[in-house]
Amino acid sequence: MDAQLWHSLTADQTLERLESSRTGLTSAEAQRRLAQYGPNELKAAERVSALALLIGQFKNALILILIGATVLSAFLGHAVEAVTILIIVLFAVVLGFVQEFRAEKAIEALQRMAAPNANVLRDGEETRLPARDLVPGDVVLIAAGDRCPADARILQAMNLQVEEAVLTGESMPIEKIDTALGAVELPVGDRRNMVFAGTAATYGRARAIVTSTGMSTEFGRIAGMLASIETGRTSLQDALDRLGVILARAAGVVILVIVGIGLFRGQPLLEMLLFGIALAVAVVPEALPAVVTISLALGVQRMVKRHALVRRLPAVEGLGSVSVICSDKTGTLTRDQMTVRRILVAGTRVKVTGAGYEPTGEFSTDDGAPLTNGASGAGTRDALGALLTAATLASDAQLRPPGSGAHGEEEGRGWRLQGDPTEGAMVVAAAKLGIERAAIDTSYPRVGETPFTSETRRMTTLHQAPDGGSVAFAKGAPEVILAACTSQLTAAGVAPLDDAARRAVLDEALAMARQALRVLGVARKQNATLAGAEGGLTFLGLIGMFDPPRPEAAEAIRTCERAGILPLMITGDHPATAEAVARELGLLDSGRVITGADLDALDEPALERDVESIKVYARVSPAHKLRVVSAWQRRGHYVAMTGDGVNDAPALKKADIGVAMGLTGTDVSREAAAMTLTDDNFASIVAAIEEGRRVFGNVKKYLMYLLSCNIGEIGLMAAASFMGLPLPLTTVQILYVNLATDGLPALALAVDPPDPDLMTQPPRDRRAGLFSRPVVTLMVLGGLWATVVNIGLFFWALSTGRPEAEARTVVFTSIVLIEFFKAYSFRSDRLSVLHRPFANKWLNLAIVWELLLLAAILFYQPLSRIFGLVPMDNEDLMMIALVAFTILPVLETGKWFLRRSESRRRPSASPA
Ligand code: ADP
Ligand code: MG
Repeated sequence: MDAQLWHSLTADQTLERLESSRTGLTSAEAQRRLAQYGPNELKAAERVSALALLIGQFKNALILILIGATVLSAFLGHAVEAVTILIIVLFAVVLGFVQEFRAEKAIEALQRMAAPNANVLRDGEETRLPARDLVPGDVVLIAAGDRCPADARILQAMNLQVEEAVLTGESMPIEKIDTALGAVELPVGDRRNMVFAGTAATYGRARAIVTSTGMSTEFGRIAGMLASIETGRTSLQDALDRLGVILARAAGVVILVIVGIGLFRGQPLLEMLLFGIALAVAVVPEALPAVVTISLALGVQRMVKRHALVRRLPAVEGLGSVSVICSDKTGTLTRDQMTVRRILVAGTRVKVTGAGYEPTGEFSTDDGAPLTNGASGAGTRDALGALLTAATLASDAQLRPPGSGAHGEEEGRGWRLQGDPTEGAMVVAAAKLGIERAAIDTSYPRVGETPFTSETRRMTTLHQAPDGGSVAFAKGAPEVILAACTSQLTAAGVAPLDDAARRAVLDEALAMARQALRVLGVARKQNATLAGAEGGLTFLGLIGMFDPPRPEAAEAIRTCERAGILPLMITGDHPATAEAVARELGLLDSGRVITGADLDALDEPALERDVESIKVYARVSPAHKLRVVSAWQRRGHYVAMTGDGVNDAPALKKADIGVAMGLTGTDVSREAAAMTLTDDNFASIVAAIEEGRRVFGNVKKYLMYLLSCNIGEIGLMAAASFMGLPLPLTTVQILYVNLATDGLPALALAVDPPDPDLMTQPPRDRRAGLFSRPVVTLMVLGGLWATVVNIGLFFWALSTGRPEAEARTVVFTSIVLIEFFKAYSFRSDRLSVLHRPFANKWLNLAIVWELLLLAAILFYQPLSRIFGLVPMDNEDLMMIALVAFTILPVLETGKWFLRRSESRRRPSASPA
């Protein structure tokens, strides 16, 4: 049928037309339809093909110059040069291709992992599937925070509001309805009984039947591509691109001078041209951008293994600079496995035993008397029943017995919970008293609801009562619920609630919160409407639940301390609960706790002044998160912020690194975040920071090494020119040094294992960039020392009467050895080379392989002839090795001075 007119049908007509039912499709039917309609996804934006990637490699000025040089040397009859340059071209092309291909694959894999899921009814059971598996006729469940997975006709709307800006440009959310609209064509924005793929539910929930999928959706018609992984260039990539240009220019000048001097001394033009090109090849780090890309891609892969999914490539390096982590409490620092421990009902304190979601446990009073047998009076027991019934009816969570897994894999794994753990804890507690959700759901069918939000901190539901009247139940933060109550249920029946009684209950709530319990108040109102249930309620009691802190979070907090990262807690929970949990985690050894209300009382300058002393924010709304992020950012910090709700999106975007929750978070929050935790665990943020630091560190090592080698090579050439000596290396030799000497070790440095001091150093200052003082110092020192050693050896060899070829052999050997030694020293710009020197197995392999190559071309006649090398005696060789070795003590002395001056400056140099 015409996709435009679904809105004009009634729900039943729609079901009929789509040959489906209110309980959805069977898996078999869905399978069949999937084959018929194809997956529910938009045609991917043109994917870069392998061939295009390969061709792209030739669009590089350097490669083109090299190809020109190949032709030139062939033309001049230099077969060896021609072949060598050709090998270099192939090597560079293959290297570039492999790296870009791997990066591309890594990003594709991420796209798949980040793909959205949808809650759908299959075989009558609610399951969570990848949204791409949806077919027309599927019944989907949509809740606040979801991105609608397909176009669908709403069967039942529960206050659903949807923001449809992607389709209509209208950013105000639209209230959705479930009744049929007139049989006329309506613009998308007016089809209020439909939801559309790509739009975001901001409030409430609904059940809807899918009418169209994939490219047939309204979104598919207008949009090219869904918001997905962003591969924007990182600042590191930009910085290196700029560096490449600067180096190319600088090298160009130096080479022109060297070539000019050569020509002036009467060298043939074309020969000097070829030599100049070879020198250029040696000096310009052609693999630079590719190495950064591959380092980032490898970092992304390692982060995935550690449960952090990065959505924006720049976040990989940004993570390394994080100096503040603002973390949710529930589920991130704690396990989100709530168990009701304490209850206050009819003025009586009740203890609850039992563990996990298994509905067995005892209720007893404080003095240990069991409550179940009416020992402390039937009135209290009845009130407890009323309290837990209300709490269950006002919840959406479902308890599933063992072996109830719809898809087999969960079978026999014990009791499971579907839904919010806070609500689940209450449902479990009710079941311990023998109150079964299924039974009371039928006697009190729900007819309306006001959903929970982090701002209101309360949820209200309206039910039909068995006597035909209506009753409303509400649960939420104790102070919110109490403020809406005018009476309370006691053992003797309903009594008025005065201020003193209210205060007494709040004191009890505080006492529970101090034991690290999350406390909710519960109330009800007979014969109410949803709007009428805002006030005038009857207070039923308090429920206190325990949520164990994650041991690995405590560990990660200690890591943060060593790494100069400040962890903070931001929670909607009660300040006393937050404080107790924070203390247990070691997060509040110093600093203070403030509430959202306190925060409202602080203006921006005051907050900016005080922000460093505040460790825990309690009873905050998502809007407060934005202020906290801004205040820290104004103090020059780089902030990671977690969030899971729809309303957290602005703070997630504002933070330098927004962190969303993969298990419990909403689609909207995940899209706003730079990174998603696949296990919702605080420790994974810290792991990702470590990987981010490692990526940056390795790019730094790579760069420091490569540039230092280049400084040495060009320094040698320039020095020889200015001293009026012959060229210390031939064209082929220069090409060999560049191809076979610094290339592989440099790559190996890019995958160096993490430094042992990675998480004991303060975060990197973003403004400092790559070229920190130690990096520049060591790079230049290494380059200059190599120049001095090599030109010295060359001069010595010539002045002792050796022929030029032999002098070149000496220099050639020394350059290669120096670069090998340097590779080990440049594994750190701080730590001594003696610190785990052989930890990088790739580096060891590269060096062994290249030493073998070196031996071959030095000692195997046919090869040494090609490279213009002549045999040397062992004494010369020993001497060269010894002189080359001096690079290590020189660099180590440099590091020693750097460490010393750093530790002198440290005390005054606190981060920003
Ligand atoms: P956080 O996730 O930071 O712990 P929330 O914003 O989820 O905080 O919850 C804040 C407060 O709202 C809780 O302390 C509790 O009192 C109340 N609350 C939490 N979940 C629910 C819910 N499902 N229904 C009613 N009230 C809730
Ligand atoms: Mg929460």
